[in-house]
Amino acid sequence: MVSDPADGMLRRAINALEAEFAHLPEHLIALDEEAADRVLALTAHRLGDNFPYFHPLYAGQMLKPPHPVARAAYALAMKINPNNHARDGGRASSAMEVEAVEAIAAMFGWTPKNGGYLGHLTSSGTMANLEALWMAGLLAPGKRVVGSEQAHYTHQRVSGVLRVPYAAVAADERGRMDLNALEAELRKGDVGTVVATLGTTALGAVDPLDEILSLRARYGFRVHVDAAYGGYFALIPQDLDEPARRAFAAIGDSDSIVIDPHKHGLQPYGCGCVLFRDPAVGRFYKHDSPYTYFTSKELHLGEISLECSRAGAAAVALWATHQLLPLTHGGEFARGLASGRRAARELDRRLRADRRFVSLLAGKPELDIVVWAMQAPGANEAGERAQAAFDACARRDLHLALVQLPRFWFGQRDGDASDAIKCLRSVLMKPEHEAWLDRIWERLSAAADEVLEGSGGLAKTG
Ligand SMILES: *Cc1c(COP(=O)(O)O)cnc(C)c1O
Repeated sequence: MVSDPADGMLRRAINALEAEFAHLPEHLIALDEEAADRVLALTAHRLGDNFPYFHPLYAGQMLKPPHPVARAAYALAMKINPNNHARDGGRASSAMEVEAVEAIAAMFGWTPKNGGYLGHLTSSGTMANLEALWMAGLLAPGKRVVGSEQAHYTHQRVSGVLRVPYAAVAADERGRMDLNALEAELRKGDVGTVVATLGTTALGAVDPLDEILSLRARYGFRVHVDAAYGGYFALIPQDLDEPARRAFAAIGDSDSIVIDPHKHGLQPYGCGCVLFRDPAVGRFYKHDSPYTYFTSKELHLGEISLECSRAGAAAVALWATHQLLPLTHGGEFARGLASGRRAARELDRRLRADRRFVSLLAGKPELDIVVWAMQAPGANEAGERAQAAFDACARRDLHLALVQLPRFWFGQRDGDASDAIKCLRSVLMKPEHEAWLDRIWERLSAAADEVLEGSGGLAKTG
């Protein structure tokens, strides 16, 4: 496992928190400690049935361990278990949420002074996107929402929940929204909102937001940016290539933004964020609860949030993380993102130079996600080899992911345009991945040899 500094930190912080409430009469919590220990030992055993998400050799899905300070702050907040629905239930944690959201909005150039914004944390990117599309539907009633076919499937789904018509626009060979396909939809005159994804879930592709915004000037529609995965890359423009850099530079001109601190922001699950450029959307949240809002004249987060009860601990953990790792250009947090990106580019470089693997035609990764296929005589064999390599890596404690992508992205033009090929995928999102890249490559290379030997070696490949 990993040696964990959070345990000692947490004990000291709990002592400090207990001192805050030392004036209260003592209240002992009744607990059969032996029984509780038995339950927790069993719990630990059950948790052993997991991929080791916390370890740098886990390089598969979008899973980044929370920072030790985030975990300690979250666990500390569990002593209180605040509810950020309203100031009554989470006074300190609501104030911390407002500050944490302010730090996130500032990454995109939105501040209370330069026109303001409205924003809050959510339990997930799904809920954050649901709120954004809810507003989109209210502001452009009857009009359609469009996103690229590589947009997260949540957009289609939440549009269904909201009964807002949704359509997918074609993606190009880099997994970015195809602007010609978008313009064809816009000409129909009924598009109310375009969802631009900055960092797609499969590929980390970056839709051309700057160009989508130019089309907005001509056709008039709302632009919602789904940066659930990629939002924090706004902190490292110098480490991005064009045109991704231009897209990130344009984020502040959008109408709404979603970013997930629980994806790249080193937070435990249960931490998404939605931001609206126009604070006046707050009017749509209006409700009159007879019982929640008594103790404060200040704005309650429950008055600008679709969800009611929300984990105040999520805000506490995020706030604490920001104190240690401010969201600044060139800061330690930004350097961690840049190092994952270098790891991805280096992995991509090695894969491209190696005939056991087939890389995407379109070029380098735009963020820190790498996808590749196994060399094979046909798509079926490539898929079987990807699965076999995935398993052979896992036997070496290296955990990758699998993804289905269009064959033509790999230059295979025979067959149906919709034909997919099963590929390997690695999300190198941990700051440690760069230092671990040689060890990752060693295991991948040995696994590929094993798979190719089992199938007669490279000689048999087409
Ligand atoms: C992960 C993700 C989502 C969904 O967010 P959850 O936090 O998993 O609910 C939406 N859009 C994109 C681009 C994502 O990467």
